[in-house]
Amino acid sequence: MTSASSSTTTTQQHAIDVENEHAAHNYSPLPVVVASGDGAWVTDVDGRRYLDCLAAYSAVNFGHSNPVLLDAAREQLDRITLTSRAFHNDKLGPFVERLGALAGKDMVLPMNTGAEAVESGIKVARAWGYRVKGVAADQANIIVAAGNFHGRTTTIVSFSDDPVARNDFGPFTPGFRSVPYGDAEALASAIDENTVAVLIEPIQGEAGIIVPPADYLPAVRELCTVNNVLLIADEIQSGLGRTGATFACDLVGVVPDLYLLGKALGGGIIPVSAVVGDSDVLGVLRPGEHGSTFGGNPLAAAVGLAVVELLETGEMQERARMLGARLHEELSRLVGHGIVAVRGAGLWAGIDVDPGLATGREVCERLMERGLLAKDTHGSTIRLAPPLVIDPADVDWAVAQLEAVLQELRAGSPS
Ligand SMILES: *Cc1c(COP(=O)(O)O)cnc(C)c1O
Repeated sequence: MTSASSSTTTTQQHAIDVENEHAAHNYSPLPVVVASGDGAWVTDVDGRRYLDCLAAYSAVNFGHSNPVLLDAAREQLDRITLTSRAFHNDKLGPFVERLGALAGKDMVLPMNTGAEAVESGIKVARAWGYRVKGVAADQANIIVAAGNFHGRTTTIVSFSDDPVARNDFGPFTPGFRSVPYGDAEALASAIDENTVAVLIEPIQGEAGIIVPPADYLPAVRELCTVNNVLLIADEIQSGLGRTGATFACDLVGVVPDLYLLGKALGGGIIPVSAVVGDSDVLGVLRPGEHGSTFGGNPLAAAVGLAVVELLETGEMQERARMLGARLHEELSRLVGHGIVAVRGAGLWAGIDVDPGLATGREVCERLMERGLLAKDTHGSTIRLAPPLVIDPADVDWAVAQLEAVLQELRAGSPS
């Protein structure tokens, strides 16, 4: 394993400067310029290698340049890539049939980005509320959880409580109620006759890999069933193997009415998202009421189908379960030694660094210098979510780098 050195080279700096000058400043990337990737590792423009412990927020669950997924994409590239849904294409049917089966549902609404899947789920829930549940026109409400992250559109930031995501983007879309995450009683008291859905992340990703109490989601499921309310699980980041199960909901035996999927569904190659449910709910949509020029395109469907086939064997889920156990066992050794708490499931860890020691960003910068890419969230939390194809030895190596960084910080040595 080659680890990176700390200096930013001229090649890197030039690439960073050009990007900073001409790309909008809606991110603050670590100063690394990635040029290629293979499995769990990426290589920068100067040939230095880094273990990718973010995996594009779990969009690269199956590794960079996954040969099976690349083959599926290449094969489709030479045939046809885009038809629009004005016509049928020969890839969409197999994709939606198999994705539905993977989720135990009979219908799929194909979209592109995660935010579009969320928006689509909201529209479906509202239409279901008016047409099936009988809610009076324009009165529908949807319950969400505090600390949520569901994407960046104006409607979605309307029910975010992150001021950075919201400020100066109003006026906001009405019809949402926020309750504390993990508190089923608060949710119960927010439900009324106009509630059409509860929209929830089974594990909150951007909030810092927050795992709710084990009885929470089953209680939410029960409340939704009893009150004739749809349970919409946003599994865009938690789903498709990350937690050691196909869906994070599986970990607690909960079946939502709608799954929202994205990120890894596109195999790290193209944006592919979907709303997955049964026809008694998804079937409310009628021709012309919703759509997407790119949604369900043959290239996306070919890659999405290859992703579903990877997950059908259960091998990826098993890897995440085994390697996740190893990761969490290793990380737990560091609690009390610069780390305050570790949470997560499968190959997904939220790590609270002692705020007196460093910010999450500082830790990530030092990890980068050692050849490990990770991302901070909310102050002193960092998250690790490597591709599920990571080698077991690289899991140990990642924790060793974190341990070394914590030792440096505790010794007060300069970066
Ligand atoms: C990333 C994410 C989204 C938004 O997906 P985009 O593809 O970035 O629009 C929505 N929900 C969750 C839980 C996510 O992690």
